Amino acid sequence: VFLGTGGAFAKGRRSNLGLLIEDGDFTMLVEVGPVVMQQLARVNVQAADVGFLFVSHSHGDHTLGFPMLALNRIDAEGRLRIYTGATTAWRLKTLWRLVYPGLDPRRLNLQWCELPETSVVETKLTGGITLRTAPVHHPPGVPTLGARWEFAGGPTIAFATDTVPNPATIELARGCDLLIHEASFSAVLQPGYDPSAHSHSTARQAGELAREAGAKRLALVHLGPSICGHPNVLADEARGASDLDVLVPSDGERISL
Ligand SMILES: [Zn+2]
Repeated sequence: VFLGTGGAFAKGRRSNLGLLIEDGDFTMLVEVGPVVMQQLARVNVQAADVGFLFVSHSHGDHTLGFPMLALNRIDAEGRLRIYTGATTAWRLKTLWRLVYPGLDPRRLNLQWCELPETSVVETKLTGGITLRTAPVHHPPGVPTLGARWEFAGGPTIAFATDTVPNPATIELARGCDLLIHEASFSAVLQPGYDPSAHSHSTARQAGELAREAGAKRLALVHLGPSICGHPNVLADEARGASDLDVLVPSDGERISL
């Protein structure tokens, strides 16, 4: 479920980037931006229903909803397992302490599963679901992880945001059924603009990376404010002359793999 498809500067009907990956009882939230509670409410998912959380990095559009998600889990029976880099984990815990000091975090039933920020690692989430993470290019002081989910006998999903095209993302996306990649900028709508100066990608770069990795399908997310109203242009830009299957989802859109 594409909970939110915008970037930090959410605009129009697009809120900050958020994803929900569901498989039977398995529910994993990806990113926990400022409006995460509204995003979950829209698809009728409660905070206590979320068993797993992945956070790519610590920028506010990916983290500022964490204290509210955590608060809404108070005395929850089910555990929330949080997969993120050590730096991001520390910043999430700091956010909680800043806004709810004195509220014992043990009541939130959280399990912190800190991931290495400088190496590739594979983690079993459940018997049949594996998460692989890898460091991707990021702004100074903001370690950022890309991710790949493999479902035994099922699809493979790769995810990279707030980054420029890089070899680690290509490896994560190798042969995947769906690559969810950021397109903060557009080479067509913003010619001459250098996205790498902001550690972000264009739709064209996302398409090139998807083809190089052999991804079967590409979804563009984290769309910048001046391009997010032109989904067809972005899809064409990413596709180029190829027959790559490109999706520019709206907030709340759900797809099945
Ligand atoms: Zn962002």
